[in-house]
Amino acid sequence: MISFPVDNRTRNRLESNPNRFIEDVIKKFVRTSPFNQLEAFGNDLIFETPLIGFADGNDALFTDYKQVVHKQHFTPREILTKYLAEKLKEESPEIKSVNVISFVLPINRKTKTSNAREMEGPSLRWNNTRWQGQNFIIELSRHLVFVLEQFGVHALAPELSPCYKIFTPPDNLASSWSQRHMAYAAGLGTFSLNDGFITPKGMAMRCGSVVTDLALTPSPRPYEHHLANCLFYATGKCGACIRRCPGDALSEKGHDKARCLHILFDKQKPWMEGAHGPGYMGLYAGCGLCQTGVPCESRIPVSGSQKR
Ligand code: SF4
Ligand code: SF4
Repeated sequence: MISFPVDNRTRNRLESNPNRFIEDVIKKFVRTSPFNQLEAFGNDLIFETPLIGFADGNDALFTDYKQVVHKQHFTPREILTKYLAEKLKEESPEIKSVNVISFVLPINRKTKTSNAREMEGPSLRWNNTRWQGQNFIIELSRHLVFVLEQFGVHALAPELSPCYKIFTPPDNLASSWSQRHMAYAAGLGTFSLNDGFITPKGMAMRCGSVVTDLALTPSPRPYEHHLANCLFYATGKCGACIRRCPGDALSEKGHDKARCLHILFDKQKPWMEGAHGPGYMGLYAGCGLCQTGVPCESRIPVSGSQKR
């Protein structure tokens, strides 16, 4: 845990511009945390400068997610209420406001280049990024919660909470808190043909979120619909991700999650068994071929889309 000053000057910064304060906390942690380093690659950064967005936790979109994602997907108010009820030992804790802080972590350019060269399975850098990057997201989420709590603000990282669930087949493959849906609500990008998420820094990224009762200004959503940043839906062309898939998990109809899982866990097992060199880690190798070597890898490819 990186220490954080709790003095009047810092408190003033938080109170005078809470959005900017949070952006600074996240950016500094990305810049300086030793968790954001690829040990096997000379401690190169795992993630580059983040994008940060904010969403009003009472936005009607969050109720829609119960249909779109899963019926047990939490609204920000529901999960904050649950958290505070347990923490404060009160049945119906009073909540003044509820907001979502969403962050997008673009993958290091060298890692994207290495994966873009691959045709059948992920590069070692990509695999290490998948799993060490996950650890970093956990540390960043904890740090943000820790900093806010230092100032008497309530905050939680839903993906780390005990009530977070992952639903698997025969149920929908989904979770009770979708990070990409949080990023969509916070104005950070849209979905795509391959079930990815295209941000102004592209699709090759990971994202996370924290819910808080701190009053924040919501970010605008600079897109007309939830697929606006994908060339396939904007022009009827592209489909580069379909050609990148080493199995047949992608088509013009979209992403076949079951086939993708088969490729990840079965077809790419040799990567985990050392067939492509030592150093692969995690539950599976990580693929990501449809996120690299494609027009949306590092930008929004649709002309006229808002860029940051
Ligand atoms: S490669 Fe093309 S079709 Fe596939 S997600 Fe990116 S923009 Fe959309
Ligand atoms: S992650 Fe890999 S297997 Fe899954 S859809 Fe993308 S390219 Fe295909």
